[in-house]
Amino acid sequence: MQRPYAQDMADVAKRRARVLTLYEAGRTQREIATELEMPASTVALDLKSSPGYRARSTLSSFAPGAGRLTAAAAAARFGLKESTLRAGIDAHVVRGRRFIAADGRVIRTVDVVELEADLANLPTCGYDGCDRKALAPSGACSGPHARALEMRGTKRSGETCKRISEGKRGKDRPDVAARVSAMHADPRAHAAWGVALVTGRAASPTSSASANSLRRWKGKLGGIDAKDKAASAVAAGVDGARPAGHPRGYTSKQEATVIDLRREHPAWGRATLARATGLTEKQVRGILARK
Ligand SMILES: [Zn+2]
Repeated sequence: MQRPYAQDMADVAKRRARVLTLYEAGRTQREIATELEMPASTVALDLKSSPGYRARSTLSSFAPGAGRLTAAAAAARFGLKESTLRAGIDAHVVRGRRFIAADGRVIRTVDVVELEADLANLPTCGYDGCDRKALAPSGACSGPHARALEMRGTKRSGETCKRISEGKRGKDRPDVAARVSAMHADPRAHAAWGVALVTGRAASPTSSASANSLRRWKGKLGGIDAKDKAASAVAAGVDGARPAGHPRGYTSKQEATVIDLRREHPAWGRATLARATGLTEKQVRGILARK
């Protein structure tokens, strides 16, 4: 049965109004098509045919407006981490606006002058040694420092942070690059770093070379620790301790006995001396070579 033309027109108008309402509520065209079980091309046509329709920007066509920057551009200009700035805008720590792009993504913008003022009024991060602005609501510059502050269990007030930052202003602090290179210059810290690195990689199923690599790093670390242990044994005057590597395995008394026996029986060979003292021939040779 054919429906009257006027009825069809009313249906289409109703459907278009519905499509437009959904679009203005932030849905993407694809989402509307799924929700209303319509072809995406019809959704696009319906929107274009609706008098009240204003296309949302896509990320590439988005223009932030006069005096405004996207969060990405502002982060670059002010030397901030983009994710931190985005979070700061969402938490209203700094002023900004949010737009939903045609593909459903959120675009944040800031007014350059407003952001400059907001940043100037923010205390610095409450984390020791960090001079960045406290963009996170917790009084830290970002997630990692916020968590560090939480773990420490004490949060400084904005006033305290301000005083600390005034105290720190103009003073040198060790650069991260300098700290990292100092770490790699210290053999033990370097080996510990290697073990930690390979251990972390070993947790990933895509890693194949890490078993050998881990063995090498652990060997290196173990060697350094053994040397340290031997050196402190020597320093502590432990009998038989040697400055590096393995302990020699005999005492000063056994050493003296070898020397005495050699003096008394110059004809005795290493094998005889070894049998007489319970040492190995190699140890006897070592003792005799040093005397
Ligand atoms: Zn920080």
